Amino acid sequence: MVSKDSTSGTVKLASGHSYPLTGLGLWKVPQESCAELVYGSLKLGYRLLDGAADYDNEVQAGEGVTRALKEGIVKREDVTVVSKLWNTYHAAQHVEAACRRSLQDWNVDYFDVYYVHMPISLKYVDPKVRYPPGWSYDGTPTGALEIENSPFHETWKAMESLVDLGLVRNIAISNMPGGMIMDLMAYARIKPAVLQVELHPYLSQVNLVRLAQAFKIHVTAYSSFGPTSWVGISDTVVAKCEPLFTHSTIEKIAKDHSATPAQVILRWATQRTISVIPKSSSSERLKGNLENEKFDLTEEEIKAVDELNVNLRFADPAAADARLGVYA
Ligand code: NAD
Repeated sequence: MVSKDSTSGTVKLASGHSYPLTGLGLWKVPQESCAELVYGSLKLGYRLLDGAADYDNEVQAGEGVTRALKEGIVKREDVTVVSKLWNTYHAAQHVEAACRRSLQDWNVDYFDVYYVHMPISLKYVDPKVRYPPGWSYDGTPTGALEIENSPFHETWKAMESLVDLGLVRNIAISNMPGGMIMDLMAYARIKPAVLQVELHPYLSQVNLVRLAQAFKIHVTAYSSFGPTSWVGISDTVVAKCEPLFTHSTIEKIAKDHSATPAQVILRWATQRTISVIPKSSSSERLKGNLENEKFDLTEEEIKAVDELNVNLRFADPAAADARLGVYA
């Protein structure tokens, strides 16, 4: 069910909590500008903040929220604050401490949504040694990844305890393929409320979205703008496509609606009840992105964007196998 207000439409999660269709992504937001960005976005009307321990800016994001709460710009219950359990904390005994650390950093009592960032369990790194720990066990950019033998059902049970403890309202999954979701649904006492995956016109994820929706799991798209976010990270894949912003199909639709290409790309998702969390630091773009819900695409236009799908994936956690070190 979608309802619209002046900020963003919201959907009702299976748990009954509401969750915005358009939010702000916080990956790669520098610490120096994060508090101001979060504060400014709340002032603009954003009500969904998509953070993660791994983004290394939760303290600053929390400062932005605290300031907005103090100034009465928002009430805590009106903001959907999101964090994610990092890969090194999957072992059941580390889940609660990881969540409490993120809560403390954000300076909030509970998360509206707490994701397992990836279905990849890496060897534990003590936060006193390094926080956030990143991918490689030795902390270097090219160091080996070390797997921890921590099956997902144990992690999920620990995630369910977070709901029982009142630390988290909804637990959620990210970067999880369909087969694994089916398996999770077979044993989950508390079902995942949201699935966050890479989703954009070059990777429309039709089957995965259908599967999630059949299980009443709400879908949130990340990297909605496709290659833009991956320049300098996945350059060989980026080189395989043209930027979505200048694609003739997107440009034409944008022109016909007097909208920006970014708004067309976002609306293609939100109109189908898929949430988006674009990241931007420019107030003009932030405003424009939030306003993507102010117009509707025709069915033909949605189909034309669907046809851009080439199953092109910029974030491939499975590529981590190239750097696997010793199995624990
Ligand atoms: P994005 O698709 O939001 O793209 C961000 C880039 O687009 C930035 O370079 C920004 O300057 C540019 N941009 C933003 N608005 C624009 C506009 N209106 N016009 C032109 N350029 C514009 O990419 P993202 O940051 O990868 O994804 C969004 C969020 O999703 C992240 O910040 C993060 O919160 C989340 N995410 C999650 C995962 C995961 O594993 N769960 C992975 C990647 C991202």
